[in-house]
Amino acid sequence: RMNKDLGQHVLKNPGIASAIVEKAKLKQSDQVLEVGPGTGNLTVLILRKAKSVTAVEMDPRMAAELTKRVQGTPEGKRLKVMLGDVIKTELPYFDVCISNTPYQISSPLVFKLLSLPTPPRTCILMFQREFAMRLFAKPGDKLYSRLSVNVQFWAKVSHIMKVGKNNFNPPPQVESNVVRIEPKHPRPQIAYEEWDGLLRICFVRKNKTLRASFLGTTAVVDMLAGNYKLWCAQNDIPVDDSPLDGAEADGMDLDMSVDQKDEEDEWNGFSDPEDPDDEVPDFFKQATKRTKGAGKKNRGRVTQLVKEKIRKVLEDDTQLADKRARLCDENDFLSLLAAFNSAGLHFS
Ligand code: SAM
Repeated sequence: RMNKDLGQHVLKNPGIASAIVEKAKLKQSDQVLEVGPGTGNLTVLILRKAKSVTAVEMDPRMAAELTKRVQGTPEGKRLKVMLGDVIKTELPYFDVCISNTPYQISSPLVFKLLSLPTPPRTCILMFQREFAMRLFAKPGDKLYSRLSVNVQFWAKVSHIMKVGKNNFNPPPQVESNVVRIEPKHPRPQIAYEEWDGLLRICFVRKNKTLRASFLGTTAVVDMLAGNYKLWCAQNDIPVDDSPLDGAEADGMDLDMSVDQKDEEDEWNGFSDPEDPDDEVPDFFKQATKRTKGAGKKNRGRVTQLVKEKIRKVLEDDTQLADKRARLCDENDFLSLLAAFNSAGLHFS
């Protein structure tokens, strides 16, 4: 019996299975990672073309079935089955990743592949169609998200083929697509956590102006102020973080920026982001808990200084204050990150 919670839709069309493996253009020297091998329909084909396969499978019954399938064959010796959740598993080095991906982990899997310190040469991945379309979305498209920006920044992504739902057992609700994700080589010289940290803030509300995203909520300012203090300490830069006096402190909250009072209310209500990937970052959630419990936070001069730095980055340095993340391209995000970093503001 199939376990629907694990996204178990086994490929039953052998033609599609061989096409997927064909498209990986495997070399005899390749070490391959397979995510969710299931009963091994792809695995046995990969083993014929590659040096070795590491297959990470969450369902012990499936793992046992696969192990049994290759037991006693020469191929069996070149297969290592790891039992567990691929997202939480520390992965060995691999040249190529192949996966008929369980749909629940599509997004975390792509992020995991992109953030590997030594990325594979290529990934051939089957996804549900809607998810595949998010990978290709461009600025202004409805599906444009933090996922789109990241995948297109760190990799070249191309479409390989459409696969109808009747090629699976049991058939899923929707059609699927096979895509190729080739991490850029050499890797862009940008810190992953900085880049993604910036994008997380921009894309929580991708239809808001960047001014609203960065200055319309105290959580973002507080996070950047905290990181700024750390950065100053690491670089021996003295900071004056004495408390603001009454009038100044009031100003902090009131002029949160422009006329964004309504935006801030919306932030604090945490209405769901438009995109499933653009979940509210942890520091927002913690900030809300804190303010709810403890009343008004005591902010010092550093917060005020950081607010002014953010304003300068958005209005003067990049002139992107009025632009919305949904319309920003890679170069906009790159200039934002450069401007923030040179002002001493960091996201990780
Ligand atoms: N590769 C097989 C095929 O193409 O016929 C099966 C693909 S099926 C769509 C997805 C497989 O991933 C299932 O065997 C499921 O148990 C496994 N799986 C689900 N979540 C997983 C996770 N977090 N880590 C590793 N494997 C997972």
